[in-house]
This record gives sequence, structure tokens and C-alpha cells, in this order.
Amino acid sequence: MRKVNFSAGPSILPQEVFQQASEAVLNFEGTGLSLLEMSHRDKAFVQVYEEAVSLVKELLAVPSEFEVLFLSGGASSQFFMVPMNLLQDGEKAAYINTGTWSTKAIDEAQLFGEIAVVASSKSSNFNHIPKHYDVPAHFRYLHYTSNNTIYGTQFQSEPNVSIPLVSDMSSDIFSRPIDFSKFDLIYAGAQKNLGPAGVTLVLIRRSILDRQSKKLPSMLDYRIHIANESMYNTPPVFPIYVSMLTLRWLKALGGISAIQLRNDAKAKLLYDEIDRNSLFQGHAVPEDRSRMNVTFTIKDASLEKDFLAKCEENGCEGLKGHRSVGGFRASIYNAMDLSGVERLVSIMKQFEDEKK
Ligand code: PMP
Repeated sequence: MRKVNFSAGPSILPQEVFQQASEAVLNFEGTGLSLLEMSHRDKAFVQVYEEAVSLVKELLAVPSEFEVLFLSGGASSQFFMVPMNLLQDGEKAAYINTGTWSTKAIDEAQLFGEIAVVASSKSSNFNHIPKHYDVPAHFRYLHYTSNNTIYGTQFQSEPNVSIPLVSDMSSDIFSRPIDFSKFDLIYAGAQKNLGPAGVTLVLIRRSILDRQSKKLPSMLDYRIHIANESMYNTPPVFPIYVSMLTLRWLKALGGISAIQLRNDAKAKLLYDEIDRNSLFQGHAVPEDRSRMNVTFTIKDASLEKDFLAKCEENGCEGLKGHRSVGGFRASIYNAMDLSGVERLVSIMKQFEDEKK
């Protein structure tokens, strides 16, 4: 029985991508060389890189005012690169705190300027997305995390502000359309919907850097990465290649509108079961539920281990919840098909029957 992987990240990728990636490790497209031993300046890799950039642009309909970068250092490096590059002396930035990753972004930004947390759901263990807040017009930007991987909440629409908007979309990029007119900078670690760990996608409106005058270390300066088309240093070639394969897969499936429909159907199936099943309850308030990370607990906590064991017996892996929420988390990223969620739902039903 093939296992179904519900891990939060690194996480499931399409089977055919694993197959193609493994072939490229041994013999890249008939060249007689492994992709792992090729120069990043080799024409063969430059083509991979160009295809990856062009698929990002095509699938997300990225406007021409934006640059597409593939950087290293994880989304966590964007927590400091964003304020380092965008905040000039004396400028302030606003942040919305919706969980662990937003909190980390805030902590890092505080090293580079004055940060105002304009809204937070911390007092209710981050079970919802704050709705009412003011963002002063003189702030340089507003930062928010579009999907909260740990708590299982998701912004259903972007915050409405008149200042530049920056978003960490690590755990929901490529799952739904993005209205680029609202954004100035978007970043996402690859290891959920895009590819393996080791590369971070950054989409940046060129004009947001116009006022940047600080001298920064080269590796931390967006302008240097833009000028060198992400090849100022050796880029993470293999993660970029696998990301490109995943984007090809997504395109063949019908692109963002098709995957969004599939994601909605998967999430509905699972949340309906959580709401119906007498043993379980959801963590996030219904209107802010994530379509990527479904967090839920079992009312009788003494049954938690039994349920996890039953999931594993039936080939469902990676369901243990993060320690800050407890219970379970089913990450149902793009590469998970409906049958994976159906398997989990049927285990939940059987478990209820057994415990009645
Ligand atoms: N932001 C979000 C929303 C995440 O889920 C994660 C990690 N899972 C990160 C940031 C940190 O990413 P990385 O480990 O790539 O630094």
C-alpha cells in the first residue's frame, strides 16, 4: 500500500515528479551527466531555470513589473531580508500576528526598525484571522502570513491597505490565484506546494526597491539578486529543477483554477467529516479555516494515540499535530489528491464506529 503523506513540510509532491527527478540525478535528459554535477552556467541548467521562471509567471499571471527570484536560506531568511531591504532609517512597518511564523517575522524585523503589531490572534491561540485593525498610512509596509501552517488558519482575502503589502505565502502559494495589484513582495519557501526544501521563491515589484539606498551584504540585497537573475552565487540547482517539474505538473493539471477547485473539494470533505464526527473538533474558527493545513483535536484526549496508530496502520503518515495546537494536522497540499483525503475520512468514520 502506497502511503499517504499528510506532513506539513517538507511534504508530498507529485509521484511523477519524484520519478523524473530521480532520473535526472542519474542521467539528465540523455546528457550522460547527473544534474547534480552540472554547472549552473551550463546551457542545460540555464534552460531549466528559465522554464521555472516562465512557469511561475504563467501560472500565477505575474505582471511584468515583478521580478521572480529563486533564493536560498528558506522563508526564514526573508523574515530579515524584507525589513533590511525595505526599511530605510527611521521608517516603521506594520505586522499582523497570526501564529508562530508571523511571530518570527516580527522578531526578526525588530532588529531593523520600529515594528507595530497592528492585529493579533495570539490571545485565542491563533484560532482565527483578525478582521478589524487600522494600518497608519505612513508605515512603509504591512506584512502578513497568508496561511498559518501550524494553526490551520488562512486569510480568505488579502488585507485591504493603502501601503505596500508583503506576504509570506510559504504554505499556500500556487493553491489559489493571487491579485498582484495588491502586493509588492511575496515570498514562499518551496517545501509545500512547490518543491523540495532548499529554495525560496520571491516575487518582488521592482519599484519597491527604488528608495533602497543602504549598502547591504550582497547575498542579502534583492537588487544584486535581480541584477544577476538569481545567479549571484551558485543557486540551489536541484530544488529549482524539482520545482520546475512540479510547475509543469501543475500546468498539465489545468493550472491554478483547476487546483483551486480540487483543493476546495478536499478541504470540504475533511472539514465536513470533522464537523459531523462526534469524536473530533476543529481548531480554527470555520470562516478562517485553511484549505492547506487542517487542524483538529479529539474531544477525549486519551484516544489521541489510538487514532494516530490507526491512521498509521492504514498508511496515513504525518498527522500528529504541532505541539502548540496538539491533536492532529492534515496537510493537504496541491499534490494530495482526493483519494488521500477520502482514506483519512474513512479512518475517522471507522474509528467513531469502534469507539461508540
Ligand atoms: N513561513 C511559513 C508560513 C512556514 O510554514 C514556514 C515553515 N514551514 C516558514 C515560514 C519557514 O520556512 P523555512 O523553514 O523555509 O525557513
